[in-house]
Amino acid sequence: MKRSVRPAETILEDLLSRDPQRIWSASCEVIHLGQERTRILPLVPYLTEIGRAAEHTVLGGGLAPNRRFVDMALRTIRFHRDSEDCPCCLYPLPGDDGIFDPQEEMEQGYVRILDRMLDEHHTGDYLVQCTRCGRTFQIIQEWGHFVWWRWTPIS
Ligand SMILES: [Zn+2]
Repeated sequence: MKRSVRPAETILEDLLSRDPQRIWSASCEVIHLGQERTRILPLVPYLTEIGRAAEHTVLGGGLAPNRRFVDMALRTIRFHRDSEDCPCCLYPLPGDDGIFDPQEEMEQGYVRILDRMLDEHHTGDYLVQCTRCGRTFQIIQEWGHFVWWRWTPIS
């Protein structure tokens, strides 16, 4: 799956738009760009503004879930502001928001899949290794209303 590549200014415009749909979609974009420090850094100076814009916007379509994506986007930006650590730290997400598909992360070159044990229901485990720092993760893939992945660091 090819990811859309939009410049930080366009993403920022959406994040500040006060349009719930645009904010939600741009937040998901930021979360997926979490492994690409150079793409996130231009957003760092706007952290407060982004948070404020989201605060003032009622995010529709099940308010709480959509708000969570904004919080995760802010967490991603803060991580790159505060830390030099390998961004694979961002893979384990709080709660059930497992939106990082190991297959897709592999195609982007961020991880290699060491092992995959999926049954016919697309449920099972992955073992992956970060290509940059060598950390390994166990990933549980589950199939509910959609597929989600829970990443747990094991090294
Ligand atoms: Zn790493």
